[in-house]
Amino acid sequence: MARKLETIRNIGIIAHIDAGKTTVTERMLFNSGESHRAGEVDKGTTTTDFDEEEQQRGITIYSACVTFNWDDHVINLIDTPGHVDFTAEVERCMRVLDGGVVVFSAREGVEAQSQTVWKQADKYQVPRFAFINKMDREGANFEAVLEQIEKRLNANPVPIQIPVGSGPPHTSGAFRAIIDLVKMKMLTFDSSGKKPVVNEEEIPEELEEEADYWRERLLEVLYKYSNELFELALSEEPIPEELLHSTLREATLARQIQPVLCGSALDGIGVQPVLDAVVHYLPSPADMPAVIGTNPDGKKKDKEETRKPSIKEPFCGLVFKVIPEKHGDMTWVRIYSGELKANSRLLNPGTGKKENCAQLWHIQASRKDQVDTAGTGDIVGVIGLRNSITGDTLCDTRNPILLESIEFPKAVMSMAIEPDSSAEKDKLADVLEMMRRQDPTFKAIQNKETGQTVISGMGELHLEVIRHRLLRDFKLNVRVHKPRVSYRETVKKKARVTGECHRIVAGQQLFAKLEIEIERNEAQEESVVVINRCPVDSVPFELINAAVEELKARGEGGGMIGGFPLNELKITVLGGEVAEVGTNETAFIIAAGNAFDKGLEAASPVLLEPVMRLHISTPEEYVGDFVGDILKRRGEVEKTESRGQEAIVEASAPLAELFGYSGAMRSLSKGLANCSIEPLDYKEAPPEVAKSFMF
Ligand code: GDP
Ligand code: MG
Repeated sequence: MARKLETIRNIGIIAHIDAGKTTVTERMLFNSGESHRAGEVDKGTTTTDFDEEEQQRGITIYSACVTFNWDDHVINLIDTPGHVDFTAEVERCMRVLDGGVVVFSAREGVEAQSQTVWKQADKYQVPRFAFINKMDREGANFEAVLEQIEKRLNANPVPIQIPVGSGPPHTSGAFRAIIDLVKMKMLTFDSSGKKPVVNEEEIPEELEEEADYWRERLLEVLYKYSNELFELALSEEPIPEELLHSTLREATLARQIQPVLCGSALDGIGVQPVLDAVVHYLPSPADMPAVIGTNPDGKKKDKEETRKPSIKEPFCGLVFKVIPEKHGDMTWVRIYSGELKANSRLLNPGTGKKENCAQLWHIQASRKDQVDTAGTGDIVGVIGLRNSITGDTLCDTRNPILLESIEFPKAVMSMAIEPDSSAEKDKLADVLEMMRRQDPTFKAIQNKETGQTVISGMGELHLEVIRHRLLRDFKLNVRVHKPRVSYRETVKKKARVTGECHRIVAGQQLFAKLEIEIERNEAQEESVVVINRCPVDSVPFELINAAVEELKARGEGGGMIGGFPLNELKITVLGGEVAEVGTNETAFIIAAGNAFDKGLEAASPVLLEPVMRLHISTPEEYVGDFVGDILKRRGEVEKTESRGQEAIVEASAPLAELFGYSGAMRSLSKGLANCSIEPLDYKEAPPEVAKSFMF
């Protein structure tokens, strides 16, 4: 039976790497009864992180979505990337989740990466609450993080809990419990038995004053959103817990506030309340607006289509991940409307192809269930699709709708890696292949000659995260080389040239002439396009075909400045000449090569370099230093904006000038600034940069 709309929560845990996403997830699964122990990252016993044993059991599948039950609700926990160097991946997740739990470390606080994700969650209008984790760490500071959330994220955080103590166990004042400001109780946690339990206790006398203060703060915020609540408070009557929950829910769904919780996932403190908050304050699919798309069909093409979150509407969904499985791919689909049935036909309106939906799967932490139908609002793994990839829409064959597709930026930085031993080589290849299919902006290419593998991605941090995963999560010993910028080449002008063949082969003079035009075409999707406009009667088809193939191959082979991949290059074959003797395919291949070289040269080759967008937040007094530094890096400052003592600098600069930027940024600001960097565009590099590559 399909799951009931109102009882579903599609959520993501959004966190800066190391804030504790995996640990929180493990605890959630443990508390829900889905797993019999809380796996620990440091002992390599997690359910959701990949390891060899898990790979054998085939449950790497969790890297898409894992489902568990809590309080009669179904929680679909969608995997979100731990890094946001790669905006597209995060944005893809944002589109399929309805609400977010943002995890911060109580020690490190709001890091720049969190800022970027927060902004994306704003853009996609995702309601969320915050969980301040690691309260047991030395230097944990609940109030400092709260203030950072408010200032750095321009948010409206509203604590619904406060920590009791902070810092490691067995120290004086250690973090040990939570005060729940809705219930006005102290919660203690015991995970020693088979089933973890939460105990509600009266708030100890010495903490009453502090609790009252925070409760008052909470109520004051909520007065704005509920008259009923305000009037009860005015007449000093008790405020029912239910009313507090519903007011908090409304304000959270309207994205007016973000409730704040705290705890230590590692010690099992505060995670059950996080699950309660998911149920109480985050939206169900029924709370979501209709999705909007266009009609892909001939007559009605581009007419707006909408689908409400209702089982009565025709089926429509979005592919958000494809995970390779032993028996074919499992395609993960978020259903926006209608229902999906096993053994049915669907349409991929983007490709116009019909697909076979053979099996449907719900994946729980402890088991997989094959189901007959999956309903509106749900997330389901589909087996049987052949031509649908991440970002594609799927819909009812008779009621087509095409949702806006997800665009992926191209990789801008690459790094060579080598396995330490040949035994690791196969494992590395497998792991890279798996990572590549999961992350469409990550690429890995093996160089057979050098034995190296070149991986590429969205920036220094993206590569750093991949390295980290290889070493930590997959326990692979790889040597890594320095990351490099992925340059490209194109041409500036349009040029028309004739290539010739003057070679003598086996005593015979070969002859062919080929006229081509070469130009830059920014509109095309492929990097190199070859078009044949040669009049049909002037050259036999197979000869022109050989020439076209050669031009394509040369185009793929790289440019003449530094041998970097060519981009936005359009080549048109305009005509050719043959002779009575000595004209053959070889002659045309040679003429095509000659035309390519001449044409590229004549069309003024240029080097393109990736330019990154920077979003810096810094104490006001360092703004001048940051601006000066960006200009030195051939960058441009778009705007600076003051937000109290904090200031925001938005800028762009070539990636080549940004190596080690995070270090430079820390020293510019005594460690107080934050920055996120993401690919913006490829732009023409100045001649001195291009020259450095020429012999
Ligand atoms: P992720 O990178 O966001 O998935 O974070 P992990 O869950 O892998 O946690 C990163 C590190 O922080 C690991 O060493 C965890 O053991 C540790 N960690 C996670 N949560 C807590 C916590 O509540 N307290 C402490 N002291 N350490 C934690
Ligand atoms: Mg993790």
